[in-house]
Amino acid sequence: MLREARRAIFIDRDGTLIRDTGYPSDPDAVELLPGAASALRSAHNVQVAVVVVTNQSGIARGLITLEQYESVRKRMHQLLAEFGAFVDAEYYCPHHPDFTGPCDCRKPGLALFDQAIAEHGIDADASSFIGDRWRDVAPAAHYGARGILVPSAATPAEDIERAHAEATVATSLQAAIDTAIANL
Ligand SMILES: [Mg+2]
Ligand SMILES: [Zn+2]
Repeated sequence: MLREARRAIFIDRDGTLIRDTGYPSDPDAVELLPGAASALRSAHNVQVAVVVVTNQSGIARGLITLEQYESVRKRMHQLLAEFGAFVDAEYYCPHHPDFTGPCDCRKPGLALFDQAIAEHGIDADASSFIGDRWRDVAPAAHYGARGILVPSAATPAEDIERAHAEATVATSLQAAIDTAIANL
């Protein structure tokens, strides 16, 4: 029997799920953004998978070790679990073109999304792409999916303008996930 493809929300990490402190490396400093856990719960309540895709150029820059990335990742899981929330999978790009040369996995590159779609049997065009930068939501167009920008204090004005023109802008992560679920 064929497995039914899963719908998913592809979500950015820093500045979307946890506070963006600039190359987060200290697990003790990890802080969930308000409403993040309950927003993820609403996706799971309707059987939508949550897949984190994150650019971690701090690794290429020598500012974060893989061990630190791993400990921040685990801490986020722990904090989410305290609120009954979780993520189904996580993918990261450790590169930066200036330090490690071009790669296909740094967002808005598609390699990590393609990998997630293949590994988890995701129905890409019934999915949503959420984050605080244009590069997080831009891949949606390639898959015929919905892109939803949730601006943070660090979001460039041009990213917001572009999302208004070509995608959707939400005022909170909960609003973004509500929109994603309603339109899946
Ligand atoms: Mg971000
Ligand atoms: Zn990469």
